[in-house]
Amino acid sequence: MLKSFQMPELRFNLIANEWVIISTERAKKPEDFRQWREKRYLPEHIDSCPFCVGNEAKTPGEILRVQKDGGWKVRVIPNKFAVLSEGGQTQRMNDGLRRAVPGIGRHEVIVESPMHNAFLPFLEVEDIADILRVYRSRFVAAYEAPGVEHVIIFKNHGEASGTTIQHPHSQLVATPVMPIQVRERLDEATRYFDSTGRCLMCATVSDELGDKRRIILDTEHFVTFIPYAAFSPLHMWIFPKRHMASFSDIGDAEIGDLALNLKTTLLKLYHGLDNPDYNYVIRTEGTEKHRSKYFHWYLSIVPRLSQASGFALGSGMYINPSIPEEMAEFMRGVNIT
Ligand SMILES: [Zn+2]
Ligand SMILES: [Zn+2]
Repeated sequence: MLKSFQMPELRFNLIANEWVIISTERAKKPEDFRQWREKRYLPEHIDSCPFCVGNEAKTPGEILRVQKDGGWKVRVIPNKFAVLSEGGQTQRMNDGLRRAVPGIGRHEVIVESPMHNAFLPFLEVEDIADILRVYRSRFVAAYEAPGVEHVIIFKNHGEASGTTIQHPHSQLVATPVMPIQVRERLDEATRYFDSTGRCLMCATVSDELGDKRRIILDTEHFVTFIPYAAFSPLHMWIFPKRHMASFSDIGDAEIGDLALNLKTTLLKLYHGLDNPDYNYVIRTEGTEKHRSKYFHWYLSIVPRLSQASGFALGSGMYINPSIPEEMAEFMRGVNIT
């Protein structure tokens, strides 16, 4: 038991294959992470914002839109400052110790609402479900492009998350190589399956549901919890309870439930800690492996509440100045009505 240790505790994160130091002596109370932000009420519309309704001409090349009442409610557009570009050769260059691949791929922006101040958790469940359906359709489409090895869907919220645009949006990046961090997670899950005959994530979900101490929210098809070896305060995982290797396999009823789960979790974060900055990312297998037994997709939410140190840089080991069980108990108690 954690409390019996009169010293910090190292915990091993089986899914990420990494140690983390749970810094019990320096651990802060959940309330200590509150941002004490003045509630900044953003305007509904900003004339100079490229994502606001009426400014569509500033973002040409629209890829997809979800219509509503003669207007739109979700738009997908190419990222004007794309980190990777479409088309071209996928040929590798190996020159001695120098390895390179042309930067082909995709970089899309999913504008979540025509309104500048429509934070995701304040949208209706049905509207969030529409955004998740757009994620699914763009995810599948991105894998069809030649040379694409992996697709990442993520969201940045607030300055510390790395975003420069306040207007609520998510992004999709399709890369021409498999990111090493993703490869390691896939390999770890495969190794676990080889030695036990079970999916590591199914086992984790079942274990967390039985233990209950780190559970934040349990809905029909999804469960939100803080990992036993969480890397940072309120690092949260949302897992589908059904085994699904790829996000492309999510069904419509499951999308509705994920929308409800994500809305509730993000509302608790908003009210519990006064609108902290955060990132979320979908960790998943590709579409062609959607029947794989070895991986199980999930959504990882990382509030930007503490900063990684040189120690983390040098060791790959994070120091978490909070106790996962205490943080989960706090989140369960946050009233969102
Ligand atoms: Zn805007
Ligand atoms: Zn599974």
